[in-house]
Amino acid sequence: MKDIEGIWREIDEKGAVQFLQKLLQTRSANPPGEEIEAAKLVADWMRRWGLEAEVIPIQGRRANALGRLPGKGKKPPLLFSGHLDTVPPGEAPWKYDPYSGKIVGDRIYGRGASDMKGGLVAMIAAAGALAKAKVPLAGDLLIGATADEEAGTLGARHLVESGQINKVSGVLIGEPSDLSVYIAEKGAFWLEVTTRGKTAHGAMPDLGINAILQMNKVLTRLSRLRFEYKRHPLLGKPTLNIGTISGGVKTNVVPDGCKITVDIRTVPGQNHRTILRSVEDLLGELRKKDATLQGEVKIISDLPALETLPQDPLVKAALKASEAVTGQAHKPQGVMYYTDGVAFVPKLKIPMVICGPGKAGLAHQPDEYVEIPKVHAAARIYVQIAMEMLGN
Ligand SMILES: [Zn+2]
Repeated sequence: MKDIEGIWREIDEKGAVQFLQKLLQTRSANPPGEEIEAAKLVADWMRRWGLEAEVIPIQGRRANALGRLPGKGKKPPLLFSGHLDTVPPGEAPWKYDPYSGKIVGDRIYGRGASDMKGGLVAMIAAAGALAKAKVPLAGDLLIGATADEEAGTLGARHLVESGQINKVSGVLIGEPSDLSVYIAEKGAFWLEVTTRGKTAHGAMPDLGINAILQMNKVLTRLSRLRFEYKRHPLLGKPTLNIGTISGGVKTNVVPDGCKITVDIRTVPGQNHRTILRSVEDLLGELRKKDATLQGEVKIISDLPALETLPQDPLVKAALKASEAVTGQAHKPQGVMYYTDGVAFVPKLKIPMVICGPGKAGLAHQPDEYVEIPKVHAAARIYVQIAMEMLGN
């Protein structure tokens, strides 16, 4: 392998900070999710650092950017992936303008600094260093900068459907991990449960069927729902949260409808269809006791749990690189949130590793920042992973 420290020295650290600051100043909050300007900026910097780059429009003002550092075609390509969108700044006041990219000491502030513009910039800087060092790679290094990770993974799915990444051997996602290596993520199975009743005047409730009271029975049973699962070594057990409830129109009317949404986070090995059936069975059992209980269940999101085996070469490469750069040995871990991996992994049947400079605890919070030295460290980690996977 070419002297890794020699390639690290080619990382344009000053440029990376400038680029990150510009990217933080370029709004890409989702909703509404207008990533086109961020995609253009990313493609510009990819070209500036010696990569091939294109902006791929999706619809309206939504777009991905795809970068490529060509290899010799002897090995399948490797995909680095990061999303362009951020969550909105939120209602709580910020110390600094969320779109300022303000630098204070070692930190750079802004919406998306941790989640995950910092990681995306580090990936592109790493590829730029490999380009500048003229390292011969056995396979292409691809960088997919995607739209809409925060809402529906539209960009990642578009990238898969375009066929441009269908030969990749694995994906490295730069989501916030504080430079640790995550190899498993929980699934997200979201349901909407509705109960239906019959309206009547609030002074004569006996003439109606109260959908809120019916929902009360559902809630009691649902909160005690037992899952079939095997405890996962990295992700633990599945969880269930009842996130919203709505129903009724007026105080003096018997409500004829009530709706809840349920957020179930699953572990690998659980079957989402089985969970759906158990919720439907629960409604069926209640109906047996009370024929007036009418209700239905609808799926609103269905994202699978993912895991990569610890012995996978991509995992080993990431652990080795992270240790070499941070000086700390890491054990692979799991994360509770989902990533663009849900669009890549089941379709492409590839291993996935998450490693990024941000801190997950800062994501979606006011005063989000990323530590600049960690962005540079991430770039070094990514250089080493690319060399392990694509070097000769
Ligand atoms: Zn993210």
